[in-house]
Amino acid sequence: MLKHKNPDWHPEQPDRIAYIWKAVENAFGRNAITIIERKAKKEELYLAHSLDYINYLFSIRGSVDLDYETFFSEHTLDAVLSAAGICLELVEHIIQGTYKKCFALVRPPGHHATYTGAMGYCIVNNMAVAVNKALAMGLERIVIIDWDVHHGNGTQEIFFETDAVYFIDIHQENLFPENSGNVDETGRDRGKGFTLNIPVPAGKDGNYYLDIMDAVAYPILRRFSPQLLCISSGFDALGGDSEGAMHLVPTDYRELTRKVCLWADELCEGKLLMVLEGGYCIPSVSEAVCTILENWEEKL
Ligand SMILES: [Zn+2]
Repeated sequence: MLKHKNPDWHPEQPDRIAYIWKAVENAFGRNAITIIERKAKKEELYLAHSLDYINYLFSIRGSVDLDYETFFSEHTLDAVLSAAGICLELVEHIIQGTYKKCFALVRPPGHHATYTGAMGYCIVNNMAVAVNKALAMGLERIVIIDWDVHHGNGTQEIFFETDAVYFIDIHQENLFPENSGNVDETGRDRGKGFTLNIPVPAGKDGNYYLDIMDAVAYPILRRFSPQLLCISSGFDALGGDSEGAMHLVPTDYRELTRKVCLWADELCEGKLLMVLEGGYCIPSVSEAVCTILENWEEKL
């Protein structure tokens, strides 16, 4: 995943995960990180994407611009297979009970990747692959909360017509993608009422996010009674991020995660999968990931 290259001007750089990795090691020791050497198989990517799209990715030789800001080069396929493979491995461990709570430190991110294509730095939708794997393993109700500052349009699209996955997306209004993540996008057919978008005006802080979680997310979780709780955890709502205009501080992610840990314990035997999405102010993202993992330590 460190070898997937983007141009120098691009905010999504290998340093993101290298820096977080170091920070976690420094804070919690080497054993805090488990290195998973699993690449998703081609067929496993069909869990969330069309045959045509995945076959296309496997056919690329050399470098291709998938869109104006999403690039595919020599090591990109290995990186996306590793990112999806790690999420698959973790969700299997969580369902089988060998781990309860996991944070997947992966890149490139996934939540803008749709059923048929790449978008917004995202190539394969890591979370959607893992969640569909969990459904294939027999789970029937999963909640995904996406608190990346951008709308998780790809994840929304992939689960738009199912009532097995409740998708809750808290994002900065009118950011990216354009005209995406409005409150009237609530699902279709069987999925009607199982997508909830919460567009937030720019400039809000962590308390605002915590209030949304209590007032909106928690009642849904209690009603839906998930068997697994998943968090698409972008960190671009941190103050100072080049892409968002929110004012969260690193410790806000500890408090947000404390809530979801409690809810996972209450509702689904502690089963929690968090997956890295965006977040580009690398030092504060690293600090935020470390504060999240303090919730794991308290459990030990
Ligand atoms: Zn983002």
